[in-house]
Amino acid sequence: VAAHGRYASKRPRSAELHERARTVMPGGSTRSVLDMQPFPFRVASAHGARLTDVDGHEYVDFLGDYSAGLLGHDPGPVEAAVTDALRHGWSYGGVHTDEVRFAEAVVERFPSIEQVRFTNSGTEANLMAIQLARHHTGRDRVVVMDRAYHGGLLYFGHGGEALLAPFEFDRLRYNDVGGVSAIDDGVAAVLVEPMMGAAGCIAADPVFLRALRDRCDEVGALLVFDEVMTSRMSTGGAQQRLGITPDLTTLGKYLAGGMTFGAFGGRADVMAAFDPERGGSMTHGGTFNNNVVTMAAGAAAMRELLDEATLESLFERGERFRAAIADVLDAAPLPMCVSGYGSLLTIHTVPGPVTSPDDLDGGDAALKELVVHGLIDRGFYLAPRGYMALSAAITDDDCTAFVAALSASIDAIAS
Ligand code: PLP
Repeated sequence: VAAHGRYASKRPRSAELHERARTVMPGGSTRSVLDMQPFPFRVASAHGARLTDVDGHEYVDFLGDYSAGLLGHDPGPVEAAVTDALRHGWSYGGVHTDEVRFAEAVVERFPSIEQVRFTNSGTEANLMAIQLARHHTGRDRVVVMDRAYHGGLLYFGHGGEALLAPFEFDRLRYNDVGGVSAIDDGVAAVLVEPMMGAAGCIAADPVFLRALRDRCDEVGALLVFDEVMTSRMSTGGAQQRLGITPDLTTLGKYLAGGMTFGAFGGRADVMAAFDPERGGSMTHGGTFNNNVVTMAAGAAAMRELLDEATLESLFERGERFRAAIADVLDAAPLPMCVSGYGSLLTIHTVPGPVTSPDDLDGGDAALKELVVHGLIDRGFYLAPRGYMALSAAITDDDCTAFVAALSASIDAIAS
């Protein structure tokens, strides 16, 4: 209560706007993930790795728009590409050149993606990949991981069932190699993240992913990697780093330089379902699938910014950052740990280790809120659930300052 009071008293303008917002948008926002108590601060502007709220507070942005903001808030080449594109008009209702450039960049980069199609979001990319796999195999059932998040309509946590009505899903426990044998020849696809993101940044045991690959081959199911978050792990995604090749991959988040984006792609023989000249009978609609701004931004981001050196150094910085946080948490007199992979990580209020979402049961929610408020109070932004996605605009000094602020927050709570 005291933390809420302190937070609210420093943010009168955000409080007022929240009240206005609540009357026209349930909960006061249009992304449930942004809900926080007593209300979220309202962002006025963003540059590089910094956010400023409407009350004039500045934050170092460790949330990185839930991983869509890999390049920071205003990467020059993306801004230039978008500005240039706008000069030629937008919303064509026709095909154009930038979508070819963007698609070529994706296909060049991800060895398992021979052909690709764009969507407006990662959610749509996953929905399309699922339908494609069902069409390709002539089977209905899809295997997902218990408590996985694959988008607004594809949430497999508790209470998410109502959203799944049109499909039939079986659930496996993440990283449970023994469970893999339950996948049978009625299964069209296995949809899995190489690191569970929203479920808590839980890295995959490569043995588990390899077992899924082998089992899919045995029963004739398609292996679909949801790399909406994890494709940042290397230029060819987490699949390249792990050396495991899926049949289909879904993408989203940062790849279009921060613009609205999703994509799905993979084996050319599977993607042929959308090609009438190869006998394909599936259609794929979407007014904004090839929207000019996203296509221009994506082509520029991939060609000019998202190179190997940038992604490698981000991965390494993330590994160092997580290790430094682990040192603080291990020494803290509170039940806390950190999990993650490369530049994606989550602070938990369980002792750990965390290898599947069940390990997070019984976490201390009040402690999590205090820690997050402590960090926000000290000028560091992260998700209420403790999630962070480093951007290339974050520096080592920012990371060092964050670790010191975390330590100070914990000391204040523990004392
Ligand atoms: N898949 C994963 C792994 C995600 O983390 C997300 C979003 O957080 C999605 C899919 C959905 O993407 P979008 O929010 O663009 O619909």
